[in-house]
Amino acid sequence: MSTLIATFVEQFGHTPDGLWSAPGRVNLIGEHTDYNDGLALPIALPQRTVAACSRRVDDVLRVHSVAAGETVSVDLDEVGPGRPVGWASYVAGVLWAMRADGLPVGGLDVVLDSDVPLGAGLSSSAALECSVAAAAADLYGLGLLADDEGRARLAAAADRAENEIALAPTGGMDQLASLLCRPGHALLLDFHSGQRAHVPFDLAGHGLALLVIDTRARHALVDGQYAQRRTSCEQAAAALGVGSLRASDLAAVECLKDATLRRRARHVITEIQRVLDTVSALEAEDFERVGELFLASHASLRDDYEVSCQELDLAVETACASGALGARMTGGGFGGSAIALVPADRVEAVSAAVRQAFAVAGLAAPHPFAAVASSGAARS
Ligand code: ADP
Ligand code: MG
Repeated sequence: MSTLIATFVEQFGHTPDGLWSAPGRVNLIGEHTDYNDGLALPIALPQRTVAACSRRVDDVLRVHSVAAGETVSVDLDEVGPGRPVGWASYVAGVLWAMRADGLPVGGLDVVLDSDVPLGAGLSSSAALECSVAAAAADLYGLGLLADDEGRARLAAAADRAENEIALAPTGGMDQLASLLCRPGHALLLDFHSGQRAHVPFDLAGHGLALLVIDTRARHALVDGQYAQRRTSCEQAAAALGVGSLRASDLAAVECLKDATLRRRARHVITEIQRVLDTVSALEAEDFERVGELFLASHASLRDDYEVSCQELDLAVETACASGALGARMTGGGFGGSAIALVPADRVEAVSAAVRQAFAVAGLAAPHPFAAVASSGAARS
């Protein structure tokens, strides 16, 4: 942390007004459902992006990222789709979106550091956006961190930043998770009603742990495939005569003529039900059932939605073969991370088994780590 302040002084010649941080997230279940008015159930990770920030008297953003090794300066009036280019668009986009929402926000000096793995499907992008959104909210006296309503308004700005300025299509789950999650809880998100609930998620109390496995696989064409899946869902909804797949049901979906659309829609409908079933199983403290639902989710994402890959399948299969109660790919797919629900005393054994399976398959070494449900964005 002191290194971050030293870097800030080095960059800008004065000390920051404060430090704000926001977590990456991992979704327990409910994948590719956010843009279908469905349900998701993320937790915040212990890994966070920290933003050292100070308020400026003008409308200029100066931002330095330790990871990028670069400083970018931009006038907020110049921010627009794809401007500035690259990583700074996520940061500038947040201030742009807050201003577009009528919030009285001006310039900032920002230095960013992060221990969220970048591009691993653990939402370093939302952690980046939300750390800056939290800083801007505090430094401009907006009071939006005080409750979930205010935090959701910041999440909406961060979501717009990523979609409209960074031009990376995203469904809104990541930013809500990074801002609203609480320690020891998963966040149940309903993208139709906008309702949210904090669901107790205390694995340690039950002798269990959540193992996150960053497969280190980053396959190309991810963005194109994501856009294609979204389009398929829109086409399926149109063929079913509903506004979104949330409003349909399995019987109707099974009658779709187009086999691809049928499979895509089947994943969405069954996945939404699995989120509800997971919440019930958590309430009943039935973790065997949670494990089964993870596996069913993975099979659906692999076979019906077709967004898995060799590395994700291997991580899931190996985790289950070495003692996990269940496992699934998490995030958009085509690489990124998997999660496994494991007995606490099997964390090392499952991690070792996954590492070995990847070595045997000739794949790059994966990065498994145990994660507890952590807190949302806050001033540090
Ligand atoms: P994920 O959110 O799963 O990590 P994304 O592709 O959505 O993957 O976001 C990764 C991108 O976000 C990076 O390529 C970079 O542009 C930006 N980013 C995230 N964290 C940082 C950071 N600390 N510094 C600079 N850019 C970052
Ligand atoms: Mg992201």
